[in-house]
Amino acid sequence: MNIKAPKGTKDIVPSEINDWYNIENAAKEVFTKADFKEIRTPIFEDTALFERGVGDTTDIVNKEMYTFIKSDRSLTLRPENTAGVVRAYLEHNMFRESAPVKLWYKGPMFRYERPQAGRQRQFHQVGVEMFGIQDASADAECIMLAVDFLNKLGLNDLTVEINSLGCNVCRKEYKERLKDAIAPFLDGLCDDCKSRYEKNPLRILDCKNEECNKLFDKYNLKESVSGIKLCDECSSHYEKLKKYLNELNIKYEENTFLVRGLDYYTKTVFEIKSNSLGSQNAVCGGGRYDGLVETLGGPHTPAVGFAMGMERLKALLPSIEADKITFFVVSDNQLEAVKLTSKLRHKGYSCEYDYNSRKFAKQIEKASKTAKYAVIIGEDEIKNNYYTVKNLSDSTQEKMSFDELCML
Ligand SMILES: [Zn+2]
Ligand SMILES: [Zn+2]
Repeated sequence: MNIKAPKGTKDIVPSEINDWYNIENAAKEVFTKADFKEIRTPIFEDTALFERGVGDTTDIVNKEMYTFIKSDRSLTLRPENTAGVVRAYLEHNMFRESAPVKLWYKGPMFRYERPQAGRQRQFHQVGVEMFGIQDASADAECIMLAVDFLNKLGLNDLTVEINSLGCNVCRKEYKERLKDAIAPFLDGLCDDCKSRYEKNPLRILDCKNEECNKLFDKYNLKESVSGIKLCDECSSHYEKLKKYLNELNIKYEENTFLVRGLDYYTKTVFEIKSNSLGSQNAVCGGGRYDGLVETLGGPHTPAVGFAMGMERLKALLPSIEADKITFFVVSDNQLEAVKLTSKLRHKGYSCEYDYNSRKFAKQIEKASKTAKYAVIIGEDEIKNNYYTVKNLSDSTQEKMSFDELCML
């Protein structure tokens, strides 16, 4: 029997763990500075949470969920984390706390996608959710935070795209206009688009199907419908966001066809692309979702957030070498070696020794691969109570006492 990791999953092995720590530590640092608190929710939830919270017209809910039945309950591995965070926000009565409630998370998500698209079925996201602020300052805060985080990682050449999807009022008119424009060629569109036509025509603009996109071009769809005509409230919200971004020196582009893949967005949506390695990669997606808390049974609560795929970030960053330990004790006296190892560890140093008591040369070879210093204990060292310390980066050697060793 030769069992491998399931298709679409990957082990994170020790040689790449520093790349993950780097992303996780940057997230913790940048988000904590902005007073976001980490929340950890279960990786599976009631299926109904995602059906209601993510939206039953999305590909995620229709095709990509890992759903299973246990004790007559339908459970689903989380395909994203906003719905779970909102559920926790309600379950712990965080809406009673003074606004804003600012939360961040990181962890694995699960979607049954075709692995040939370069996507994993278990992947990782890091993201933030901010509850309770209606003002566009919250949208600006999220975009600023995302940019700060990406900059912290060393991704500086970014394109921020923004759009407003309006509210239910202004979107209604847009949906009708969009449907009128699509009607003449609806028969030629893919099955997904056909089912979106009634349920959520905005999502048609997001279709990746080539044939559909050819028809959009042929019928000049994007030019003919232009964007949403925002109502006064949505329009002033959007203008205010742009003013904030200008004042914060965050460069952005307006993309009237940015719709995002989820049903719950209202007003602001945004995407951030990184222009490194000669190509553009979307690294962040987010937006405002003023209706979601209510949809999931809570009081009306404005909210905004974003998520980023961590595998995508990792792929854009140079990999970081594995850390070396500080000391490697080299000795043919195993008892002395383990005693010194233990002493150094208790002093707070990383330290290792050779469990097999191999020849000195073998031990030095191992030390130079894994440690900064080799601490040699030979017969003379034991007799005269000192250590020979070899600096493995420049091969210099020095005699030292234990206290001197602890000052390295
Ligand atoms: Zn509106
Ligand atoms: Zn389509």
